Amino acid sequence: MSGGEDAAPKAADGLPPLREVVKAHGLDARKSLGQNFLFDLNLTGRIARAAGPLAGVTVLEVGPGPGGLTRALLAAGAGRVIAIEKDERCFAALAEIGAHYPGRLDVLAADALTLDGGDLAQKGASAGKLRVAANLPYNVGTALLTQWLETDPWPPWFDRLVLMFQREVAERIVADTSDRANYGRLGVLCGWRTQARILFDVPPQAFTPQPKVLSSMVELVPRIEPLPCSGRHLSAVTQAAFGQRRKMLRQSLKALSAAGRPIEVPALLEEAELDGSRRAEEIDVPGFVQLARAFERLGG
Ligand code: SAM
Repeated sequence: MSGGEDAAPKAADGLPPLREVVKAHGLDARKSLGQNFLFDLNLTGRIARAAGPLAGVTVLEVGPGPGGLTRALLAAGAGRVIAIEKDERCFAALAEIGAHYPGRLDVLAADALTLDGGDLAQKGASAGKLRVAANLPYNVGTALLTQWLETDPWPPWFDRLVLMFQREVAERIVADTSDRANYGRLGVLCGWRTQARILFDVPPQAFTPQPKVLSSMVELVPRIEPLPCSGRHLSAVTQAAFGQRRKMLRQSLKALSAAGRPIEVPALLEEAELDGSRRAEEIDVPGFVQLARAFERLGG
């Protein structure tokens, strides 16, 4: 051993090392809950800095687990952390963190997929907006991100998302037409409403237990004025177009219907001013917005 955290009696924040916390509370990681814990406080500190500056900010953390990132966010000066955790085994460990930072940590026992962030922001954040920072459970990460980005009204209840994903998902989030292998529905949604970028990679060895794949931290900053269109129509056209991504639009868009009838694809393409011989992966975000608006005008 090279004298890492295990050798130290206390971590820099005065709380016990995370491995000890996990042992003391019997928090063996459960795959069904997507549990891959971070024990390295240097790394959680780096993630907290990526979400900062945090003074006076209320942070929403999904899945605090034993609290490694929670501690880093509080130590980095977050005014308040609202942590949503589904696994009740973690609550005693989180209560110890709350006692160490009185009045600054609220733990909600809930499934993040069923919570309305807008409600939380209204009740919780003095400045109105929440900052979201999380080492997300991989099995719900994309669903949560999609839910947050489809939220209305826009600009949303968060001012920034700083999230961990598998590298492969991170690449799909930031992809545009220059990266055809990764560009798809997720890239269009993220590109439409946010400016997204990969901040840094996190190797499997950083987690306990180790996942098989590389992970990346991703930052998404909401665009204040995304190109105007309805999320529902954008979702419908990207689903049709990328559902058969190798086919030309004049073929793939036949999957769309308006008022229960198949859409007139030539009319739709003309209305959207798009060439039907192009494929989904060649259409940029403004192109998809045009298509969504045309679809809406034709009764979709
Ligand atoms: N933040 C901790 C860390 O970095 O060490 C734990 C991260 S672990 C990848 C994901 C956490 O999310 C686990 O603690 C798990 O119990 C929790 N979780 C899983 N599904 C959840 C859900 N639907 N809602 C809230 N928390 C969830």
